[in-house]
Amino acid sequence: MKLNIKNIDNTKLVFNIEGIKCLTIKREDLIHSVVSGNKFRKLKYNLIQAKKENKITLLTFGGAYSNHIMATAAAGKLEGFKTIGVIRGEELFNKIENNPTLSYAKSCGMQFKFISRNDFKHKNDIKFIEALKQEFGDFYLIPEGGTNKLAIKGCEEILTEADKDFDYICVPVGTGGTIAGIINSAKPSQQVLGFSALKGDFLKEDISKFAKQDNWQLITDYHFGGYAKINMELITFINTFKNVHGIPLDPVYTGKMMFGIIDMINKGVFKKNAKILAIHTGGLQGIQGMNIRLKQKQLPLIQ
Ligand SMILES: *Cc1c(COP(=O)(O)O)cnc(C)c1O
Repeated sequence: MKLNIKNIDNTKLVFNIEGIKCLTIKREDLIHSVVSGNKFRKLKYNLIQAKKENKITLLTFGGAYSNHIMATAAAGKLEGFKTIGVIRGEELFNKIENNPTLSYAKSCGMQFKFISRNDFKHKNDIKFIEALKQEFGDFYLIPEGGTNKLAIKGCEEILTEADKDFDYICVPVGTGGTIAGIINSAKPSQQVLGFSALKGDFLKEDISKFAKQDNWQLITDYHFGGYAKINMELITFINTFKNVHGIPLDPVYTGKMMFGIIDMINKGVFKKNAKILAIHTGGLQGIQGMNIRLKQKQLPLIQ
């Protein structure tokens, strides 16, 4: 595969907070120049499988600012696949140029099909998939968010032996695929904490389906009102974090997780002398799209 992982050292942040030994950030956002973070991990074995099956086209689903759509478009281009993105929101069809995620995906050759929010709910129905095959011919299907068995296999490679001494592994959660991979490769003595980026308890069940151990916990206090919801406090946190530590965070996943970790450190939730590893899952491409929305709302931008 042309799609190769760069080896990135963990970036250590040692906080002067009593009782915390160290907080380390694993910069998965830096493993590839465009296919960043966990979306790379999730695509890796799917692309290998698609090649094995001699597929020439990848088809997947996502929202207008989806990290997964962008990653699939970029990875598909690098690996020589045609890519089709089925996008939630039919009103977007003539707004591609105003949307940084979609215009980048388009520049990678991705072809779009825009569907209504209601049709999008039925995207996993056999009938709907059959209709897509009629329209586009044969394809390798990757689910929304990229989560399937092969994606989890890829995410099992995020943690390595070098990470075995951490007491806590923190990771943001969307569909639950990434945390499932991390749980599977964590040591039984390690506690995996998932920071939910969305409202709702259904995630626990989704994670349980794929997780082979039960040393994990879903933290649901830091979704800021729901998926891609944001407020002044979070914007200020993300901007300050970048200024002080030089590490950019995205507003949908890693910003909320890091806010949660710092809040939990301050509240003394972690055990004494805890060694904490936070996985920076990437998603920085989403900042541009979020800033368009913040500007419309006359809120400060993410720097
Ligand atoms: C998609 C995404 C997640 C969530 O991953 P899941 O496997 O869906 O739980 C977390 N962080 C970033 C940056 C993402 O793009």
